Amino acid sequence: MNSTCTSERGSEAALLIPRPQAFRRLPGRCRPDQGQRLHVRLGQLDSPATSALRQVLGAASVAEGDLGADTFAWFAAPGSPPPALPAPEGDEAYFLRITQDSIAIAAHGPAGAYYAAQTLRQLRDGDGFACAEVSDWPDLAIRGVHLDLKGCMPRFDYLLDWIRTLASFKINYLLVEYEDKFPYTSHPDVVAPQALTRDQLQTMLTVARDNYIEVVPLVQCLGHMEFVLKHDRYAPLREAGHEFMLCPLEPGAMPLFQELAGEVIEAHPDSRYFHLGADETWALGQCPKCAEYAARESRFSLYVNYVREACRFVSGMGKRPIIWDDMVWREDRPELIREIPEDVILCDWFYHTYSEKERVFPFADAMWISRQWLEQEPGLAVWRARPLEDLPPAGQAFARRYWDRGEWPLWGDSLPYLNYYKEIGREAVGGSAVKGASGFASFIPHNDERYRNVAFWARAAREKGILGVFNTAWSRYNGALPPCEPLELCWYPMIAAAELDWHADTERADFDAEFGSLFLGDAKATQVLPLLDAGGASLEASTFAHLETGGGRASYKRLLLAARDLKRLQRDIQRALDEVRPRFYQLSANVLPEEDRAQMRARGQELLARLDAWRTATEPLLAEGLVDQDAHEVLDTQTAGLRHELLHWLQQLAD
Ligand SMILES: [Zn+2]
Repeated sequence: MNSTCTSERGSEAALLIPRPQAFRRLPGRCRPDQGQRLHVRLGQLDSPATSALRQVLGAASVAEGDLGADTFAWFAAPGSPPPALPAPEGDEAYFLRITQDSIAIAAHGPAGAYYAAQTLRQLRDGDGFACAEVSDWPDLAIRGVHLDLKGCMPRFDYLLDWIRTLASFKINYLLVEYEDKFPYTSHPDVVAPQALTRDQLQTMLTVARDNYIEVVPLVQCLGHMEFVLKHDRYAPLREAGHEFMLCPLEPGAMPLFQELAGEVIEAHPDSRYFHLGADETWALGQCPKCAEYAARESRFSLYVNYVREACRFVSGMGKRPIIWDDMVWREDRPELIREIPEDVILCDWFYHTYSEKERVFPFADAMWISRQWLEQEPGLAVWRARPLEDLPPAGQAFARRYWDRGEWPLWGDSLPYLNYYKEIGREAVGGSAVKGASGFASFIPHNDERYRNVAFWARAAREKGILGVFNTAWSRYNGALPPCEPLELCWYPMIAAAELDWHADTERADFDAEFGSLFLGDAKATQVLPLLDAGGASLEASTFAHLETGGGRASYKRLLLAARDLKRLQRDIQRALDEVRPRFYQLSANVLPEEDRAQMRARGQELLARLDAWRTATEPLLAEGLVDQDAHEVLDTQTAGLRHELLHWLQQLAD
């Protein structure tokens, strides 16, 4: 089988996201309105894959029958015998052949046929399809996107459309972090007013299932519990008074998790996995009881013993547990992870890692980096940097075995813990970030960083042979902080994740052109994204005109322009403040010339008017995707601070 993608660029190019593993153009075109009939494999008449095929082919009717070999669907003139086609291996793989008078699809499972339908949908051009042969399968088994409901609650119709769109680009998992948006009956007092209703929850799960997306529900078991612990009733369960964390030794902690998780598990009969979070338990060991326990055993065993019991509960309810793995390297005894049951999948996440080798080794909640780097680059900005040469012996031995790849002490493997999990026979999945990693109050992600992180993970997951990647999409850094980027502004990294998790070798230039055509209506329009990353004078580039042409996803394009205008405003207000601030002494000494004072006031008023106009123009755009309250919160987050400074300025200059 030809394993290289042979599609050509230019007018004959197939614009496909994700790019198929093998593609060959055949002569001619197929028009689906020539009296062909759709036949599908026995037993598949009512499957969602069949309805996806019917829809894309415009088939008025469908019949089922024995099509032979791996053939799943056959669309041809009545009476013409189906060809015996072999499908590539795997339930999601498919073979698609479009000739001038027929379309044949071979697949082992309905998911493969559904993906063939998605490829056909993208190949459709006017009244038909260019003839081609496609042999395709995913590089990764788990191609997941995260739906974080702790903030920025999507409008329900928007949410369903978002799920269908991700599925159409072959995303197959949705990691749903419900927080206070699940309609809990065991703890109705933690349910937010914007929470999903039972009916909405059912509809969302049905839409996911009918688009071959498996939902992985997530309920935190220890840290990040502020959605519960912020309520006074639960105050006794807080670790050392912290609202974000349960005390693992408090007798009520585990029953609370079990009640919440149990209810969520029961609502997800189709899900095989359940994610317990278990990350960033910053306050571990702080209360007197826990401190005493940690001194006697170890801080990490406090964590391990609690999380093990939570995982056993989840396994007992028939789901395979998943946890984030950062506590393994935040403590200094990674080997204790072996005390977590063997069926638990470890999710290794790094959002600012972009290449397979790194200068830092994460261990004991620090980033160890060679003294040579620290001396060579004084002021090197590494979070919690410590000299690698000072690593305690246990860390040194671990680093030598799993991090060192022959360039000690300068460089090592950027994912040493995955090497360790592999050696001890643990299954793992990766975690990238498509949003929520560019600053806690950002309006738009840093698209270049997000792309490179997503691409890094897709390739690393394939090379290290792990299950796949959950591409996280954080909506707030924690429940008490303002919302970050709206989902609608994150299509570039989200679709890049769909592309690369399916086909990790895709070249960025090819993806950028395809993304531009499909999402921005212009192959060159993707060039605005690095300009937005750069800010400053780049925001004036004429390239932005590419967003003003027709085609593509209008709501995304309008929000990209709104992001540019906001960045311009932030820049202009900052510049004006920098110029005006040194003059305030003249104002207080009563020696500011009246003419200058009037000019400064006019400038402040003009900027305030621009800011208010931005807010007014952006509100309806955000409200297309977000519930009103959250759209307002996003706008307040972006404008309130700037508005406050401008008003203060104007007040000083008032007569
Ligand atoms: Zn405690």
